[in-house]
Amino acid sequence: MTTAHDAATALFIELTGREPDGVWSAPGRVNLIGEHTDYNDGFVLPFAIPHRTVAAAGLRTDGRVQVCSTFAPEPVEVALDELGALFPTVTGAGPAVPEWAAYPLGVAWALAEASSLIGGGVDIAIGSDVPIGAGLSSSAAIEGATASALNDLWRAGLDRTALARVGRRAENEAVGAPTGIMDQMASMLGEPDAAIFLDCRTLDTQLVPLGVAEAGLAILVMDTRVTHAHSTGGYSERRAACERGAAIMGVPALRDVSVADLSRAAHLMDDVTFRRVRHVVTEDQRVLDTVRVLREQGARAIGDLLVASHASMRDDFEISVPELDTAVEAALAAGALGARMTGGGFGGAAIALIEADAVEVVSAAVSAAFADAGFAAPHLFTVVPAAGAGRDA
Ligand code: ADP
Ligand code: MG
Repeated sequence: MTTAHDAATALFIELTGREPDGVWSAPGRVNLIGEHTDYNDGFVLPFAIPHRTVAAAGLRTDGRVQVCSTFAPEPVEVALDELGALFPTVTGAGPAVPEWAAYPLGVAWALAEASSLIGGGVDIAIGSDVPIGAGLSSSAAIEGATASALNDLWRAGLDRTALARVGRRAENEAVGAPTGIMDQMASMLGEPDAAIFLDCRTLDTQLVPLGVAEAGLAILVMDTRVTHAHSTGGYSERRAACERGAAIMGVPALRDVSVADLSRAAHLMDDVTFRRVRHVVTEDQRVLDTVRVLREQGARAIGDLLVASHASMRDDFEISVPELDTAVEAALAAGALGARMTGGGFGGAAIALIEADAVEVVSAAVSAAFADAGFAAPHLFTVVPAAGAGRDA
């Protein structure tokens, strides 16, 4: 078993003096392509990664929920029937618990609401090997691990898509971060060797074999260690610009604007809004193109789409930072077939599609470029598509 599994179990025993009833886990994710398209009802192509967040959990009889994490010093405990009153939707203020605790407690609240069920009290101990705030969705991982645990312990019977919605509702309404559904769907539905082609309007999914290893390739994650925060600033502004753009175009969401409509859009809105719109519209098309190219030609042929996606995020959506651009440029200069920042932006990680035997060469080049620029050393590691959330023990 993994370190996170052992850490969560040990923390549970330390906190409660008993063994957990079970252990559940959910992965982080890398988004191969399709950034900021999810909340525009568009397309994304993420895959789950081997890094997981683990929830060791057990029922208790007093109607209270206690959460603790190896990442946070203090456990947080509240009565189940007081959960709703803690969160911004109800109070209009920030969560009345430490922010990290709003993730698992928000999941308990949203899951109880979704299944119209008053579950029993529960203790939950969290361990994780997903880097936090690195754009690899530690948030969806903690939501998915908690949701899987409570779904089983409370016998709520929700399917994976419903559990993804529970996680998103917790993040939107309990934490107050206006994120889309991509991360939770990737964490719940991941499969080894495949990416998840998700239509964020219908929530229809198709597994798309990536075949990275078969093609003699590897995916290198380049975590810049610049942390981002979704609940503040740029993310919300980008979202608002997209809504403004859709309203000006007279459509429910930017999903409904095609690349051919862009010349008309350019005359209808200010330059900044137009560039936000152009990113989303062209990014949707790049996701569709990537799925087609993967199926017809394989992973070796998608590099240019990754590069175009990064340029669009850097220049039109303006969510990159110098560290991300440096990682992408250094990887490409060292021979990567394609590279792009991944996740919401303003920090976090980039990915590079590289020859399997070039991991050391590209890693050394990226590290050297960071040192030259005076940036803190990046965290570099390869990932393969991995399984989604579930019960471990
Ligand atoms: P990302 O999802 O890219 O890692 P987010 O800002 O969306 O970044 O989510 C990170 C936040 O999620 C953390 O600041 C913390 O509040 C919460 N979180 C994630 N993992 C854990 C964990 N293992 N224990 C406690 N809180 C966590
Ligand atoms: Mg997140």
